Amino acid sequence: MLRSHSKLVLLTPGPTPLHDEAVSALALPMLGHMDAEVLNLNAEIQADLRVMYGAPNAFTALLSGTGSLGMEAGFANLVEAGDDVLVLVNGTFGARMAEMAARYGANVRVVTAPSGEAIDPDDVARHLGRARMVALVHGETSTGVLNPLPDIARIVREKSDALLCVDAVTTVGMGPFDMEGLGIDYAYTGSQKCLSAPPGVAPVAISPRALARFDARRTPTPLWYCDFGGLRDYWEKRSYHHTVPVNLHFALHAALRAALREGLYARAARARDVGFAVLSALQPAGFTPFVPTEAARLPTVLALRLPPGLDDAAVRAELRRRGMSVTGGLGDTAGLIWRLGLMGESARPHLYRPFLATLEDLLGERDLVRRFDAALSLQVAAD
Ligand SMILES: *Cc1c(COP(=O)(O)O)cnc(C)c1O
Repeated sequence: MLRSHSKLVLLTPGPTPLHDEAVSALALPMLGHMDAEVLNLNAEIQADLRVMYGAPNAFTALLSGTGSLGMEAGFANLVEAGDDVLVLVNGTFGARMAEMAARYGANVRVVTAPSGEAIDPDDVARHLGRARMVALVHGETSTGVLNPLPDIARIVREKSDALLCVDAVTTVGMGPFDMEGLGIDYAYTGSQKCLSAPPGVAPVAISPRALARFDARRTPTPLWYCDFGGLRDYWEKRSYHHTVPVNLHFALHAALRAALREGLYARAARARDVGFAVLSALQPAGFTPFVPTEAARLPTVLALRLPPGLDDAAVRAELRRRGMSVTGGLGDTAGLIWRLGLMGESARPHLYRPFLATLEDLLGERDLVRRFDAALSLQVAAD
């Protein structure tokens, strides 16, 4: 057992606290990856993923790896050397997409936006050109920015036949997602973000159009492990490809069922309400939203600029000592911001209230908890 292990509350933008039902499922006795019970459970996962992604006709599956493998599998399978790929980059994960696409031989062009700002759909229209794929991050975890996916998708669908590849790691599962309606061809997430399952599987959804593009490849995909053909062998034909992490499938299945039972609209409301209450508590104490435009704020990652004089490293170290994990900035925002997670089980008042009480103590502030509770009861009254 790790020292002080069981006491740490994760208020981070992933991994998120495990859902109770995922914890129980994780401890179920082991079964073989080709056992009929596991294959039937896989079919339930596939059906639930089609609901979560809003993609009744997509092929859905779990990749054996984290969200980054979901990202990599999209480029490995859907890009061939020399393809023109437009990547929208306004943070760390958009930059990771551009790097991966380049490693699979794509001719990468990028559209950028300044840190803390959303991608401008007009810029996408201007640079679309003859792109074979457009790739973007829906919610940038590194800055707390929500990119205008519906507007971007409309432009891509109306003006090109490019495949649309979307990183949905911070959004899908924590609110309704309309993959089919928006014409998205490939989307992925990681189990440890909005679903609050353990890290290690990446739920993906692949449109019929994307599968047709894959089937028309001139060369085999260079990434054998996540070859879409191999995925179909296991998930559709029920033949062996590789040993899937069966216990992580159990946990993901339980967490996904719990999410759909709660309802995607209810989950979106929960993230919004807790986020609003945290902001209401902290703003009068000098914390300000890092993303200036309200419409561009990601509901699942609250990025806050720290009040002048607050010692980022020291305060977070003390929070850690008192059992709470908070994430700072990344790259050029290190030391300047905190990124508070509101994905899955982290969007809970009973986790944020003690955090605010501790901050009252550490910062010599008053009324953080009082403002938090007042804002929450306002939200509940409005619902
Ligand atoms: C966390 C995250 C990823 C990568 O997931 P890993 O599980 O760390 O591999 C990709 N995109 C976004 C937006 C993320 O937040």
